[in-house]
Amino acid sequence: MATLRFSFGTMGSGKSTVALQIHHNLNDRGLRGLLLTKLDRDGSQVTSRLGVAAPAVEVTPGLDIHALTLEQWPLHYLVCDEAQFYTVEQCEQLARVVDELAVDVYAFGLITDFRGLLFDGTKRLLEIADDRVALQVEARCWCGARATHNARLVNGAIVYEGEVVVVGDTDADTAQPLFGDSVRYELLCRRHYLRGDLEPAD
Ligand SMILES: [Zn+2]
Repeated sequence: MATLRFSFGTMGSGKSTVALQIHHNLNDRGLRGLLLTKLDRDGSQVTSRLGVAAPAVEVTPGLDIHALTLEQWPLHYLVCDEAQFYTVEQCEQLARVVDELAVDVYAFGLITDFRGLLFDGTKRLLEIADDRVALQVEARCWCGARATHNARLVNGAIVYEGEVVVVGDTDADTAQPLFGDSVRYELLCRRHYLRGDLEPAD
């Protein structure tokens, strides 16, 4: 039986690294699969912060992933990174790929956005996946507690409202200015996310 497995975590949980590893391992065993991503930091490829990269199919908003799978037939598996950004319809296409075409799907996504709410794609995948896997890489807040929230920082200050999709990085050195503002993300525990504390008070 083919399965739809959804692995989720915060930024820094190493999900792109695991996605690349699975793709590599299955390919090595002679299986044919596609790597898909959306809004990756470096365009149409999956990159891991550890420096590994592989070319990937860009999941545009109108892409029918079920139709793509038939076009590329035969396929044994799909590895889908940044699945939090897929539309609800695309998540349901992944389920059809599993059920109708017997193709294994390994989807990876962030759990919540900078407001602390489930992403649309993540919500749908949690609802329909056969397996739900919490990635066990433990990211930490500056205080040492488990980091469960991706805080968005605009010009160094935490924000709680705005567009859901703004691509930034957790590395301050590579923050890209957006319309003159610098946007980056920082992993915090829930307590310090809610308080907006980015460092210890003096
Ligand atoms: Zn903390």
